[in-house]
Amino acid sequence: MAAEQTKDGIRTHRPLPSVDIPLLRDERRASRTRQMIVSTTVVVLISGGTAAAIILPRVLGSEPPPPSQASEQVGDTTPGPYPLPPSSIEESAQRPPPLAAQGTVTSNADAGSAVPEAASTTGGTTRTTRTFGQSGGFRDALVAAGCNRDEAQELITALEHVIDFRHCHPEDTLTFERTRAGSIVRFQYDADRTHIYQAVRDNAGRLRGSRVEVPVQRTRLTRGGYVGSALGDALDALGIGRSLVGIFVEVFEGRINFSTQTRDGDSFRILVDEERIAGDFLRYGTVHALEYTGSRAGTQRAYFYTPRGSEGDFFDSTGHAMHGGWLRTPLRYDHISSPFDPRRMHPVLHRIMPHNGIDYSAGTGTPVWAAADGTITFAGERGANGNLVGIRHQGGFDSFYAHLSRIAPGIRPGVVVRQRQLIGYVGTTGRSTGPHLHFGLQHHGRNVDPARELNGPGRPLPAAEMAAFRRLVRQLDAELGRVSLAPAPQGSPAPAPQETLIDEGDEDLPVTTPAARRRAHH
Ligand SMILES: [Zn+2]
Repeated sequence: MAAEQTKDGIRTHRPLPSVDIPLLRDERRASRTRQMIVSTTVVVLISGGTAAAIILPRVLGSEPPPPSQASEQVGDTTPGPYPLPPSSIEESAQRPPPLAAQGTVTSNADAGSAVPEAASTTGGTTRTTRTFGQSGGFRDALVAAGCNRDEAQELITALEHVIDFRHCHPEDTLTFERTRAGSIVRFQYDADRTHIYQAVRDNAGRLRGSRVEVPVQRTRLTRGGYVGSALGDALDALGIGRSLVGIFVEVFEGRINFSTQTRDGDSFRILVDEERIAGDFLRYGTVHALEYTGSRAGTQRAYFYTPRGSEGDFFDSTGHAMHGGWLRTPLRYDHISSPFDPRRMHPVLHRIMPHNGIDYSAGTGTPVWAAADGTITFAGERGANGNLVGIRHQGGFDSFYAHLSRIAPGIRPGVVVRQRQLIGYVGTTGRSTGPHLHFGLQHHGRNVDPARELNGPGRPLPAAEMAAFRRLVRQLDAELGRVSLAPAPQGSPAPAPQETLIDEGDEDLPVTTPAARRRAHH
């Protein structure tokens, strides 16, 4: 996915033709920064005295909220006492004062700031917030934030069924609320604006962990316009995220070449959910339908549909997946110097020899990507192939990348690679007349034409799904048909956007593009 980049950098950012796509992760960070600012303001406002009224009855355990009580806030757009606003965000390097001192001294970073001391306003509890930082794990982060071993274990026991500790990030925050005596009455973990977890001490003195339900407002946006010089500019002019360019490129890859087949005067339409928390933009949610019309590309529509028992994906109007799961090409190339041809005259050996792959001419050093997710089966020198990488994929497919100048670090047999992961660089090693990538594909051991697999449509929906799918297509076609097209950006200003509030969220859906999954907190 264009906008995905994993924390460990294994998946590289997809290069795209003449568009700039901010990483979703950056957007998440930016929106969270905004949230921090809002939250800090809340602390300032409520710590003058109302904080005790709002927070304490629950914190001090007179009426500890069971997990179900937190869930009742679903759909309530008024921010309740949950979640806790962070009192401050401190550098993880700063260790908190020892426990004995914390009973009377508030969070050290608050001293002298505009945030009054929490101890004086919360009737005896203090709140400190730390970032997860570079801790090696959740336990380390708790200890680095001032917990002793017993407390860390108690919190882990309370939260291990709600937090996936493997997905903690350095900027996640940990907020502790302690009594004067230093005992933890509440702990909150903020992974992002919708993934917030708490452990609250109940009447029996036990910390109980739960996920805090954050009400998300979901609005379906319907937009359409003419493309001027760039699709991103057109989206910008309509007030929707430039980052949505990525979804067009991803969904129509293999059917529209956005670097050669788009023209001034092309048009697009999109139906997408916009998600907000208390009016503040959170992210784009499900993209329900996309349309692109070009003088060369014709009109293409894609519909998001979730078959029973499997993940949602984009399908064309006939119910075929928009693509078969392969990259259209495993590199950015200059031209195809030799197609798949079972009866080719070999350019070096000058005799009829099958050409079991596609030769992509490209400069030495051009990055070569895995065409699909898979496991490395070979990485090294192999006769006429020169430096070769082989990858085994689902469905009985193997892909091969030959004549590489170098194989990427870490690529060796047994290593799992993801689609578009860098595996090597174009070269001319082995029996080759110039720098190019020989890309071969086998299906159950037989050589097949990669072009057919890479460009062909994906699998059709099961017959049992078609009735429901056709109903959805009729509905989405009607919606798309109602979207009027705004002039291209350099023309007159865009018309007022049409918005329909479709849902007051009772759940926070991920961005449901197949490859742009949020991290899996549960
Ligand atoms: Zn070749």
